[in-house]
Amino acid sequence: MAEQGLIREGAIHGTRPSDDEPLEPVAATPPGEVATVVDAVRAAQQAHAARDVEDRARLLRRFRDAVMARGDALVAALGDEVGKPEAEAWLHEVMPTSALASYWCGEGPELLAAHEPHLDGLDYPGKRAVVERAPRGVVALITPWNFPVAIPLRTLFPALLAGDGVVWKPSEHAPRCANLIAEAAREVYGPDLVRVVHGAGDVGAASIKGGVDAVIFTGSVATGKKVAHAAADALVPASLELGGKDAAVVLDDADVERAARGILWGAMANVGQNCAAVERVYALPKVSGAFAERLAALAGELRPGRDFGPLATADQLATVERHVAAAREGGWRVLTGGHRLDRAGRWYAPTVLTPGEAADAETNPAVVEETFGPVVPVMEVPDEASAIAAANASSYGLTASVWTRNLARGERVARQIAAGVVVVNNHGFTGAIPSLPWTGVRASGYGVTNSPHALDVLTRPRAIVVDARRAKRELWWHPYTPALVRIGRAMSTLRRGGAGLVTKLRALVALLAAFPKRWR
Ligand code: ADP
Repeated sequence: MAEQGLIREGAIHGTRPSDDEPLEPVAATPPGEVATVVDAVRAAQQAHAARDVEDRARLLRRFRDAVMARGDALVAALGDEVGKPEAEAWLHEVMPTSALASYWCGEGPELLAAHEPHLDGLDYPGKRAVVERAPRGVVALITPWNFPVAIPLRTLFPALLAGDGVVWKPSEHAPRCANLIAEAAREVYGPDLVRVVHGAGDVGAASIKGGVDAVIFTGSVATGKKVAHAAADALVPASLELGGKDAAVVLDDADVERAARGILWGAMANVGQNCAAVERVYALPKVSGAFAERLAALAGELRPGRDFGPLATADQLATVERHVAAAREGGWRVLTGGHRLDRAGRWYAPTVLTPGEAADAETNPAVVEETFGPVVPVMEVPDEASAIAAANASSYGLTASVWTRNLARGERVARQIAAGVVVVNNHGFTGAIPSLPWTGVRASGYGVTNSPHALDVLTRPRAIVVDARRAKRELWWHPYTPALVRIGRAMSTLRRGGAGLVTKLRALVALLAAFPKRWR
């Protein structure tokens, strides 16, 4: 959501999350100009689609290098715009670019290759078919501020390899990162194949209305629904990746130290501003006390500025404060954190909550709503079945984790959790693995990025059929005669399961008798 006053006088303003100092403004795109941008991208896209896939892979490797060469500038922009600590900026945003390019340049050509399905020679004599993955065309890419480099690249790379052009509406909270990536794209592809349009939701909405062929959206549930409606109106497919309220299930045989450290990272990486952040922990009685205590101790050791950054936006900070206040009012205990840091900027201490005796453990906003901040509630559940039921009692279902020393048990439990990705003994890191689908269920949206499945929206299947037959007519063409009806009936009988031998023989005789009549 755009904060009040963020966009004024044709520019995006904004302040640094770490100290509230104003940032250099970035020019916004008037919504009325977006359709012209779409047209320019389409012209460039048609030329790009005419290149063969190896050529596009060669260009993509250059684009990767142009992005990674801007690593220092990207890390600085990530710090300025969204407050990302350097370690996270390199490891979560810049470094994965290389594996992403290797995957798409390595596997992409084969994934995009045409195939020739078999056509039955009796039914379709002389005919040959080929099914290609044609580029979708111009894709509207609408992205959030939490991973301003990694999330857009996850779509830009396969889209460009597939022969698409992209109109990209980055978050109004991270326009400078987008400009650096767009500059890298210009260097390799010229001015128009990837065009950035800057602004708030109205600019994103204008890109969907501007004549694009598909929409790839990552963001909130509320905006995702608007995007789905707008895409339906434009009759184009939309891929939606929305929020999450990830559960971690800590079974009674878990390695408590590994679970505490892993869940700490899963909950506090990007200071919790991650749709796949652990936002609910369900622990079995044997380990829950030791686990919660260890998690709180580790959370208390995290150092501001190095291990965690400030909240990226004032709205986000307000949500975190509201959820912690609601938890206190609902009878929860704050094991660590629970307050802003005493310094300029939007800092909040890593927070671990547990329900007190009479706490509203199933209805508190901190357990039900997406917090998107450094707050993790830990709840004890009596057994494995109740842990699974509690994990599934959410409107979301993006990713989840199960912690146990028994790997077979972990896998069994994982399959019972309603989520797009479930990890045993780890959490959330798989977004950086380009061969694995990143997807969700329920309010987490039905979009898929990464993996071959991402190509389903970025390309469309195109069937080309060539008939080399020289006969003057086909069996099924007009005129329809009694002989043709007999052929239809006989062939249906012959191809039916369950018909007896005598019935089939009769059908064969009828067919042989009808054939010459049909051709007369
Ligand atoms: P967040 O603010 O948490 O990133 P949003 O869902 O509000 O989540 O925004 C995600 C992206 O969607 C941003 O780039 C935003 O500008 C854009 N956006 C907001 N409203 C609309 C809309 N109605 N149509 C298209 N894009 C929108």
